[in-house]
Amino acid sequence: MQNNILPQNFYSAYQKRLAEVRSHLNRPLTLAEKILYVHLFDSKETKAYQRGSDYAYFAPDRVAMQDATAQMALLQFMNAGKSKTAVPSSVHCDHLVTAKVGASDDLHSANVTNKEVYDFLLSVSQKYGIDFWKPGAGIIHQVVLENYAFPGGMMVGTDSHTPNAGGLSMVAIGVGGADAVDVMVGMPWELKMPKLIGVKLSGRMNGWTSPKDVILKLAGILTVKGGTNAIIEYFGEGVSSLSATGKATICNMGAEVGATTSIFPFDEKTAYYLKATGRADIAEQAAAVAADLQADAEAIAAPEKYYDRVIEINLDELEPYINGPFTPDAAHPISEFVKIVKEKNYPETVEVGLIGSCTNSSYEDLAKAASIARQANENNIETKAKFILSPGSEKVRATAERDGLLAPFEQFGGLIMANACGPCIGQWKRQTDDPQALNSIVSSFNRNFAKRADGNPNTYHFVTSPNLVTALTLAGRLTFNPLTDTIFNKDGKAIKLQEPEGDELPQQGFAQAESGCLQPSADGSSIEVKIAPDSQRLQKLQPFAPWDGNDYKGLALLIKTQGKCTTDHISMAGEWLRFRGHLENISDNLLMGAVNAFNEKTNEVLNPLDGSYGKVSQVAKTLKSKGISSIVVAEDNYGEGSSREHAAMEPRFLGVKAILSKSFARIHETNLKKQGMLALTFANAADYDQVKETDTIDILGLTEFAPGKPLTIKLHHTDGSEDSFAANHTYNQEQIDWFKAGCALNMMK
Ligand code: SF4
Repeated sequence: MQNNILPQNFYSAYQKRLAEVRSHLNRPLTLAEKILYVHLFDSKETKAYQRGSDYAYFAPDRVAMQDATAQMALLQFMNAGKSKTAVPSSVHCDHLVTAKVGASDDLHSANVTNKEVYDFLLSVSQKYGIDFWKPGAGIIHQVVLENYAFPGGMMVGTDSHTPNAGGLSMVAIGVGGADAVDVMVGMPWELKMPKLIGVKLSGRMNGWTSPKDVILKLAGILTVKGGTNAIIEYFGEGVSSLSATGKATICNMGAEVGATTSIFPFDEKTAYYLKATGRADIAEQAAAVAADLQADAEAIAAPEKYYDRVIEINLDELEPYINGPFTPDAAHPISEFVKIVKEKNYPETVEVGLIGSCTNSSYEDLAKAASIARQANENNIETKAKFILSPGSEKVRATAERDGLLAPFEQFGGLIMANACGPCIGQWKRQTDDPQALNSIVSSFNRNFAKRADGNPNTYHFVTSPNLVTALTLAGRLTFNPLTDTIFNKDGKAIKLQEPEGDELPQQGFAQAESGCLQPSADGSSIEVKIAPDSQRLQKLQPFAPWDGNDYKGLALLIKTQGKCTTDHISMAGEWLRFRGHLENISDNLLMGAVNAFNEKTNEVLNPLDGSYGKVSQVAKTLKSKGISSIVVAEDNYGEGSSREHAAMEPRFLGVKAILSKSFARIHETNLKKQGMLALTFANAADYDQVKETDTIDILGLTEFAPGKPLTIKLHHTDGSEDSFAANHTYNQEQIDWFKAGCALNMMK
């Protein structure tokens, strides 16, 4: 069904390239290093890259996109003038399905509400050779794990939990759409060579503890920033006690500590999973080079020499964890959780338990949680909280149904939602009596930021394993510890729940479910991509105009931002999600969260044409309509957060020529360059203070724009005085060519 999972002769080429890498580096290698160096775009560029500082260019093997981010990625790809994607790619319709009453009705609603988006994604997939997974087929990362991931491979995905595929020994990295386009058009893809965090797992997983607890504990150690610009690589004897899907759970949630990705070595469990999911040929080929799909023995023996940081977790001693509320790194072992709940006065009653998301919705997850639900039914225990289950894929759902794993949940009143993200991304029409009341929910998801699941700031959201979700749902309170406590049944009898049990993979094999994958046409040249001219959700991208060859003079100051200005401040998510495929409509949210340094208000800036104040996007539009370009001035780390390219495309679309900041977040700086913007930094940060609200601004030196050569900023103040100072940039010649062409995509045609 799926074509081209493994590039031709992949493992023989992998071994050959690895031998070359060894001859250059001449030292033992970790697994992550092997895969990264093997995937360098140009083997002639092989050298010892400095981890954490040097940039390198890579050639990933494939791309995956979810429906919310795929829209802008594919709109950009369409402008690249290619007839097919350069590497196998896939689109997954999972984010736009709202969980409300149950799988069947919710899917029907999604197909109606999102029809034009789905039609667009299907037609563009058919045209350009992309696999299209329709709504209900599953969540992107589960589908990738079941169908596309392979040991030793490298992929990018337009979603931050792409690292899920690290459970099958793949370097899988979440990126913005513009980066995905680089890979899809066959351009080198740039990444800072990541640092390496080695996590040694000793002992064996047992009892109530599950793979989720490894990453919940690690999140407490590393915090939400501790993995930034690093790959987390697992090794040690404990690895062999984890199933492939359990490893995927751990890698998935590495995103919550900011890691570039996470990875496990190839082993028998990897091969077992590959065989069970119809990829026995890949399992055999990978097994033949197994030594090259794990860290070298020297690195495992003395990890402190080869990893930048080493952490050890003993699985024998690992307890179940419950993390939250509001942040995934608030890590609590269950033995301490009751005390914490009481001390912090968290709402004790659990109102809803949710199992699902790309993190924890595998066959093993459902099998073990079902064993607890079955005990409840057999012992006449009444469940106290509501229960919702969203399977990770149709393959898992159909198999779980066949094997009687869904029935125990339904028997105690559980609701089975569509195989989609649903509540995990706020697509949950939660029925609640009193949204003002503080309340607790427990889920097997990965993120628990305020409002993420149900939009309600009064919801205290705790993330834990599916086993604990089920047990706490039965008890209906956070203070229940199934390892030590009993639970009363309807007859008043105290019941002690037994440890969860379940197969990691179905003994009879996976059921023959409808895959939900529509394969592309062999020749898509005659396929017309469907975008209605009056659509409010989709809009074809018009190429950005090339540079006119002159210095920028008389730019209006659109906004001088104060303090933090993340991609969320620049292009908000939430209700704006529906416009992710419509640049003009989503541009209405431009910088609406940024604080104006002159009045300390958000979304209220001076219109220099008439002295009035208006929304940032409105003022930008007015200026643009009068043929006046503008500039944004900002403080440090402008554009941190998500990699969404809308934050660079929107100002470009509304006539902003440059962002002048104290510093940039790396991905956003690249995104600005790709969209043909100037990303400049104050040579002297104190010059930020010289910029006045009514200034007009020149950027001089563009006719000699060259790598390493600063540009000049000239401020024209309204009192007739002027100030000039230097602005630095990090453009290389290729990026200057993007600027001159109008954007990187214009260069590809
Ligand atoms: S299930 Fe949640 S975390 Fe996973 S891809 Fe969907 S929204 Fe993202």
